Amino acid sequence: MAVPYDIPIVGFENSVVNSLRLWSAESPDFETEYLSTQEKQYYHHLDHKHSIEQISGFLYPDDSSHEGRELRLKQQYFLVSASIQCILRSYKKSSKRSLKYLAEKVVIQINDTHPSLAVPELMRILLDEERFGWDEAWEITSNVIAYTNHTTLSEALETWPKEMMQHLLPRIYMIIDEINERFCKGIWFDHPELRDKIPELAIIAHDRVHMARLAIVGSFSVNGVAKLHTEILKKKEMKDFYTLFPNRFNNKTNGITHRRWLLQVNPKLSSLITDVIGPQWVKSPNKLIGLLRYSKDRPFLERIDKVKHENKQALASFIYDRTGILVDDQSIFDVQIKRLHEYKRQLLNVFHIIHLYNELRDKPTLDITPRTFIFGAKAAPSYHLAKEIIKLINSVASIINHDKRINGKLKVVFLENYNVSLAEKIIPAADISEQISTASKEASGTGNMKMMMNGALTVGTLDGANIEIRDLVGDPNIFIFGLNADEVLNYYREGGYVARDIYNTDDRIRRVLNQLNYGEFGDQEIEFKDLYYNILYHNDPYFVLKDFDSYIETHELVEQAYRDKLSWLNMSVTNIAYSGKFSSDRTIQEYASEIWKLSKM
Ligand SMILES: *Cc1c(COP(=O)(O)O)cnc(C)c1O
Repeated sequence: MAVPYDIPIVGFENSVVNSLRLWSAESPDFETEYLSTQEKQYYHHLDHKHSIEQISGFLYPDDSSHEGRELRLKQQYFLVSASIQCILRSYKKSSKRSLKYLAEKVVIQINDTHPSLAVPELMRILLDEERFGWDEAWEITSNVIAYTNHTTLSEALETWPKEMMQHLLPRIYMIIDEINERFCKGIWFDHPELRDKIPELAIIAHDRVHMARLAIVGSFSVNGVAKLHTEILKKKEMKDFYTLFPNRFNNKTNGITHRRWLLQVNPKLSSLITDVIGPQWVKSPNKLIGLLRYSKDRPFLERIDKVKHENKQALASFIYDRTGILVDDQSIFDVQIKRLHEYKRQLLNVFHIIHLYNELRDKPTLDITPRTFIFGAKAAPSYHLAKEIIKLINSVASIINHDKRINGKLKVVFLENYNVSLAEKIIPAADISEQISTASKEASGTGNMKMMMNGALTVGTLDGANIEIRDLVGDPNIFIFGLNADEVLNYYREGGYVARDIYNTDDRIRRVLNQLNYGEFGDQEIEFKDLYYNILYHNDPYFVLKDFDSYIETHELVEQAYRDKLSWLNMSVTNIAYSGKFSSDRTIQEYASEIWKLSKM
């Protein structure tokens, strides 16, 4: 039994309350009296009840075991089926017309591939329960569903073993099989030039069901979440699908809600902004551009400086309470908060920290602006290397934070249990926003937008939405470094990068890697050898060594820039002023008019 729980989503001063329907998996109560006389059955029922409640116990169950994967698939189907049944019921209630016209009233926007069973489930209901023929059911389904892609990382693209799907969802599997047959036949006859590509396009291939392919084939719109990402989908990752369905592909650059990520989390900055440009920015975030007029106004910049400093004091005391680490609120708050993943390159950040530490140990009188490096991150439970990087950050932190020789010039803080509440505390206090993914790997990023809106300057690669941030603020107001996406993709295609050459020629890098290899930061000598081997023996798949030099150089520029306070504040205000584009108001407006074809009320 799918039991709905409606959460009200209250609009901002617009008299609109939407509802977010969450589903709970519950089993109908059984007669305890009857069962108490039949002990065996009682326990059987209890087990059954438990296995049902597990389905909605936890979003995205750990998929490192077979049982976990089965539970995840059950959850996906459960949520999809309940939602679609509810959508159809509400359509029937409000429209007198046949389900044939469903697409005139309904769009189902699927967020990534996790709900892509919506395609076969809607087909199932139309075929088996509503008694449509295949062609009509397909026409309805593929005009109702729209798909948002969130990643091109191949290891993140969801596939399911054919047997598991057949076993758990036999009818759904039959329908997917039929969709696949018809799709592949279509290619064979209508696109003979793509015949060789059928194994890479087929929804079922090598005994696995490819969910992104199912979503593309079964929808009328496929969108990426930043300009570069959408271009990579069209030109590379989903090139052949783009040839088949050129009109399906479109871009919707992600956004964030400025009413949470500025108005709510940073009340001091918000009232300062309102003081200067009035309150209209709260409903019309593009009005933030009005701040540009004041970006050289000294008294205003001093107020901006004061707000940032107070936010840093607040975070410093939060850090002290949580960790016992005393950080200097005059230091540069250099922040990297995001899931822990190799492509996000927390390791590059750590290598920079170790390098700075080495320089300070060699020359304790070195004149550098004190820095506080703040990390927040979570790793998937079975992602060993990511866990190891978290351990490394913590080990490096404990060594650096306790080394009296460097006079408190560097501090490293790892805040546990990264989540939205923690993000809300960190973001208003950030000076530097680290967005340093290997170019081409980050679909959009939204942490970059949150910090920009709060006046942090981005140190980043030309990846995801960083590119759109740069296009707005201009090169003088952002710190861009490293390989670009074309260069990275070229290396993947043509080869030509040898990580060991950099190890051999760059003394700074060799020193850092050897420190890992010889256990300088570990409790045991073997502790961080995996990281060392991963880089040198797997040829540094995320180009950490390749971008190291450019990253270090850029951080030297950051350091220089921070010394000129007024110019820094001017850059900071310029970033806030241009951040209106990244409000999710803009994003949702684009989905509404370009995909859902809603007209304004
Ligand atoms: C914004 C946010 C993210 C996404 O951060 P990226 O830097 O874009 O990867 C992840 N987790 C939480 C808790 C967030 O608030």
